[in-house]
Amino acid sequence: MLDRTVTDWQSQAQQLKIEGRAFINGRYVEALSGQTWPTSNPGDGRELADVAVCGIEDADLAVKGARAAFESGDWSRMAPMDRKMVLVRWAELIEKHADELALLETLDVGKPISDTTHVDVPATVRTIRWSGEAIDKVYDEIPPTPAGTLALIQRLPLGVVAAIVPWNFPLSTTAWKLAPSLATGNSVILKPASNTPLSALFIAGLASEAGLPDGVLQVLPGPGGSLGKHLALHMDIDGLTFTGSTPVGKMLMEYSGQSNLKRTFLELGGKSPNIVFADANLEKAAAMAAAAVFYNGGQTCTAGTRLIVEEKIQDSFLELVTENAKGWMPGNPLDPATAMGPMIDAGQCKTVADYVDIGRGEGAEIIFGGSQVMQDSGGYYHEPSIFSGVNNAMRIAQEEIFGPVMSVLSFKTAEEAIQIANDSIYGLAGAVWSNNINTAHKVAEAVRVGTMGINNYFGGDITVPFGGFKQSGNGRDKSIHAFHDYTELKTTWIELM
Ligand code: NAP
Repeated sequence: MLDRTVTDWQSQAQQLKIEGRAFINGRYVEALSGQTWPTSNPGDGRELADVAVCGIEDADLAVKGARAAFESGDWSRMAPMDRKMVLVRWAELIEKHADELALLETLDVGKPISDTTHVDVPATVRTIRWSGEAIDKVYDEIPPTPAGTLALIQRLPLGVVAAIVPWNFPLSTTAWKLAPSLATGNSVILKPASNTPLSALFIAGLASEAGLPDGVLQVLPGPGGSLGKHLALHMDIDGLTFTGSTPVGKMLMEYSGQSNLKRTFLELGGKSPNIVFADANLEKAAAMAAAAVFYNGGQTCTAGTRLIVEEKIQDSFLELVTENAKGWMPGNPLDPATAMGPMIDAGQCKTVADYVDIGRGEGAEIIFGGSQVMQDSGGYYHEPSIFSGVNNAMRIAQEEIFGPVMSVLSFKTAEEAIQIANDSIYGLAGAVWSNNINTAHKVAEAVRVGTMGINNYFGGDITVPFGGFKQSGNGRDKSIHAFHDYTELKTTWIELM
């Protein structure tokens, strides 16, 4: 796979069979209305496939099937060690189709092929395998009650869970939702983002092949504003797990309150601080400062978009960062040498360009990039861009741009760095760079975010929980902690005779 060329991938793309139908009750089906819409390739703007547009009647059918599957107990009461075997088989099937799946994700999302082959698909396999393998090793509890009594504290599946996911990491966010919710015995209905439904549809069929009973997993493409809202308001859905923007997350909380108080877990936006002290390994910090923003075109919830640098090294450090930014110029996502692909669509590319204008208008200075490029490709490409002279009150320091735009701020003391980092409605992730463990740890502890790196950015794996403080959400994806979001605690108190 490593030595494939852009031509190899292009010719494989010609052969790819794309499934655009919904997956309901164990089968690929058209939407009941027969309606479809096109999904296109952000790399060249061309249509890839027609995809079913599911509506309320499809959702109701899926919920009925999911409920029946749950009540049957075929999956929900299956021995955890048997559920494990199905999930592990599913992971193996995904691995077997890794090439095809990586290509599909690159075409649908615009992610560089080197990312989908090395990051997205392997992470998906790992997440499903790990959750499957973990589920028969999680014990319930017997608390220390008085003699003559025995109490059991069990974790039981919620029932029917709806999962709604975004377009920026379609495959891995899908795996983060499906693996723990299925492992704990729920029936799950997934609504992928309208822009990027293909990889979730692809892996749904593989789940069936692995032995997941019909109705336990359904994938319904369709519009968030109608289909997604209907799921979130549904009286027969017990849990809702969401990854996406903070404004939509707020609506989902309201829908839960307006309907049946379904358990609602949210993974939302971010404006993450990346703090660099003068005593850090500056070469490494600069390389990672660029990667922290430009990876995935900045369309990453945890992107380190606020680079907060100790004032005395600001100029020299920015030279290093700028040098690194040159390695992130966008290119054809099918070229294995490409580090950064296009924005997801024309609208997102315009949003990025608009924020560049906003930043200039606020008085910040573009010191690298700042323009849309490759317009003749038909795709939506924007240069990696760096603003200096930013203060934290500016919109480019407070609002999630979701594009390759870095805002550089400076600090004089650790206290000031912490204050700037925490001056945000978000609290998803961050990092601090220093060779003094006392400074680094003091700052890491004080910054109010769900994940903090010391001398790294994007550190972590499936063994650690992931999620946000403040308006970056609640609940946690990944690790054993994710199982908690998909289960209810049940107490049984026994009086012994
Ligand atoms: P989005 O607009 O909130 O959409 C996310 C999902 O919600 C999509 O499937 C969307 O459907 C659906 N949706 C939209 N309106 C809805 C409604 N009223 N009711 C129910 N569902 C609705 O977010 P996005 O633009 O796709 O993704 C980018 C955002 O996701 C960023 O804010 C990013 O930070 C966040 N994100 C967070 C994490 C994390 O783990 N914290 C990870 C990745 C991304 P349509 O596609 O049909 O609109």
